[in-house]
Amino acid sequence: MSLVICAFCKGKGKDPFGLLSKLADCQVCRGKGKVEVEQPVVKCAFCKGSGVHPHERLTCSACKGKGCTVFRGVKEECSNCGGTGYKADGNLPCVVCHGAGVVLKGG
Ligand SMILES: [Zn+2]
Ligand SMILES: [Zn+2]
Ligand SMILES: [Zn+2]
Repeated sequence: MSLVICAFCKGKGKDPFGLLSKLADCQVCRGKGKVEVEQPVVKCAFCKGSGVHPHERLTCSACKGKGCTVFRGVKEECSNCGGTGYKADGNLPCVVCHGAGVVLKGG
């Protein structure tokens, strides 16, 4: 585990959209500005590492707002989504790579 800057609030610790309240704590890091992630990780392709759902003012549903997802092993581009992390027909994460944009090579 290691601590990384919270992608969703960019380390500010506050909800970037102020949906509940301008003073509300960031729901991803609970106001700490940093989140614990297991290593190794890859940048989340679905939100491009921003932690924000591409089409809504919500946490990214692929990485839960952390901007990265745990990935072990040798990776290759997901052929289902072409590395974008998107399902072909919508605003949801790719069902094969779960938004990471990469899959285990040979698997
Ligand atoms: Zn945060
Ligand atoms: Zn994401
Ligand atoms: Zn994919």
